[in-house]
Formats: sequence, structure tokens, C-alpha cells
Amino acid sequence: MVTLARESRGMTMGELAAKVGVTSSLISKIEQGAREMSEERAKSIASSLDYPADVLTWREPVYGFGSSSFYHRKQQSLPQKTLKQIQAFVNFHRIRAKRLSAALDLDFAFTIPSLAVDDYGSPEEIARAVRAAWRMPLGPVQNLTEWIEAAGGVVVPREFNSAKINAISVWPPGESPFFVLNTLLPACNLRFSLAHELGHLVMHEVPEPGQEEEADRFAAEFLMPAREIKPHLRGMNLTLAARLKPVWRTSMGAIIRRARDLDVITDRQHTSLRVQLSQKGWSKDEPVQIPHERPSLIPEIIRVHHSEHGYSSSDLADMVGLYTSEWLDLYEPRGLRAV
Ligand SMILES: [Zn+2]
Repeated sequence: MVTLARESRGMTMGELAAKVGVTSSLISKIEQGAREMSEERAKSIASSLDYPADVLTWREPVYGFGSSSFYHRKQQSLPQKTLKQIQAFVNFHRIRAKRLSAALDLDFAFTIPSLAVDDYGSPEEIARAVRAAWRMPLGPVQNLTEWIEAAGGVVVPREFNSAKINAISVWPPGESPFFVLNTLLPACNLRFSLAHELGHLVMHEVPEPGQEEEADRFAAEFLMPAREIKPHLRGMNLTLAARLKPVWRTSMGAIIRRARDLDVITDRQHTSLRVQLSQKGWSKDEPVQIPHERPSLIPEIIRVHHSEHGYSSSDLADMVGLYTSEWLDLYEPRGLRAV
């Protein structure tokens, strides 16, 4: 927990040691479990990291990049320090969500099933099976976050300090599926990423070589079912892609790619449309904005704690190991604050 708390603040061992006034070798020994901490030392470490001291006594499992229940999308060359900070953020948020929901008797309409590609034949079949199990209406998915929350998933939007990572999902044994979305990216990209991560959780219990392509195919079929979207893709050009974007709530790029994957346009037409997108500067910054989806599960849990259990914000901050001011910033920002 010392390591996690330190990394969540983006601090090196040396920086923490300097702040606490000890050697970095002592911090290193403490983090490796080679040295016990006195209560006083724990307090001064915690306060240097801006956490209440009891956080350091938690015995929660931590999952990181590289563990089999931790998936992430488009992680290019991210510096180690950023990766560690994101990993710490995800773990802390996951643990806090678990603590917030522990006392409640949550009941969800659906579950996220585990379905193997070998049994179903293709990621597309699995996407259709999940849509059917969730009794989703035909056509576009209006609010993907809402569906995932109805299946017990926790979705956390967060602005990371790098756009190189889109989304992370982690589903530890016995816990809720957990997703973090980087709000630096446009909403339509995040919806695709969220569907991609959902695909991993449904299809991949252990990492597999073809998993990224399978998760993309799952996402495309889940958000843009072939049978329903194909007739609308005829005559694909940039204008049509821009018109379909607010309907299907996927990027123009994804819509154009869908047209190619469903054989509505040729590879050559696809390449030409890509070139046009990039000439207009739209491959990075597309026109027609889709609003971000707002999760409601955690806000609802917080509302219940306030209104039905009589907990104050500082009670809730204690429950999840935060000082009240940080709790308010993260969980009850102005405008959302419960009265
Ligand atoms: Zn992936």
C-alpha cells in the first residue's frame, strides 16, 4: 500500500524519502516488506502522501499491467512513471468502489457473461449473444455505460495526463468488473474502447495472441450490428459518415471501417476515404461531437449512503481512505454534491 499510495501521487522513492526525512533505502525496505513500520513512521509517510494513515494498513490485492485480469487499450510508448500512476489510480478507485458498495445489497438486471470464441465461432456471434442476453433493442446503443452498469460494471471517467491510453478494464475474482475511461479522448472513441474492453471481459479469461483483434470485432458488432447498419452504409462518403455518427455514436473512422469490413466499399475506397479524413485534419479531430456518457452507479451509491444511511461526506471519505477535500473533488464535485 505504501508503493501504491506513493505511485498514485507520482512520487519516486527518493522524493517520498526526502519529504518524510528518511533515506530512500529505508523507504525501499518498507515497500519490500523487509522493514516494519512503527505507527509513528506510518503516520508520517501517510501524511507526506496526503492519505489517512489507515490506508497503509489495507490488505487489498493490487492488479497491474501484465496481470491477467488487467486489460488496457492502445498503450503505446508510455513512460513507466505514467503507467505506474495510472495503475495506482485504477487500483485505488477499484478498492474504493468496492468499499462503497460493500454495505449495500446491490441487485443488477444482468451479468457480464463469460463466452468463449471457440464455442460461439466468432467474436461477432458473441457480441450478438451478449446483446440478446441483455435484451437490447435493435440498432444503435444509445448509452453503453448504462448497459454496463446494469450488468454490475463500474465505469469511471478520468482525465489522464496522456492521450496514449484510452481505457483500462480489470475484473478481479469475486469483484465487480471495473472500467476506467480517459476523458481526454472523444466520447465516440471511448464508447468503442468501452465495448472493446467489454469484449475482453466476456471472451478472454487469460491473455491470448489474437485478443486485440477479437475485442475490436466484438466492439464493432456490438455497437454497429452488421444486419442493422449495413443498409445505411451504401454510398459511403465523408458526408454520410458524418450523418451516421450521431445516430450510431461511433466515430466517422469506425463507420468507414465498418463499411469496408462489411464489404460495402472496397479496400481502395476505404483507403481513399481515410486519406480524405486526414487531409481535412479529421483523423485526429473529427467534426460532430457526441456528448460523454455519465456513469450513475457510484453517484447513486453515494446518494443512498447520504440520504438513507445518514453518512456525511467526511464519513464516506473515511470509508474509502481519503481526506474529505480530496473525496469531494473526486466523488462529489460541485454541481453533483448531494445536499
Ligand atoms: Zn484490448
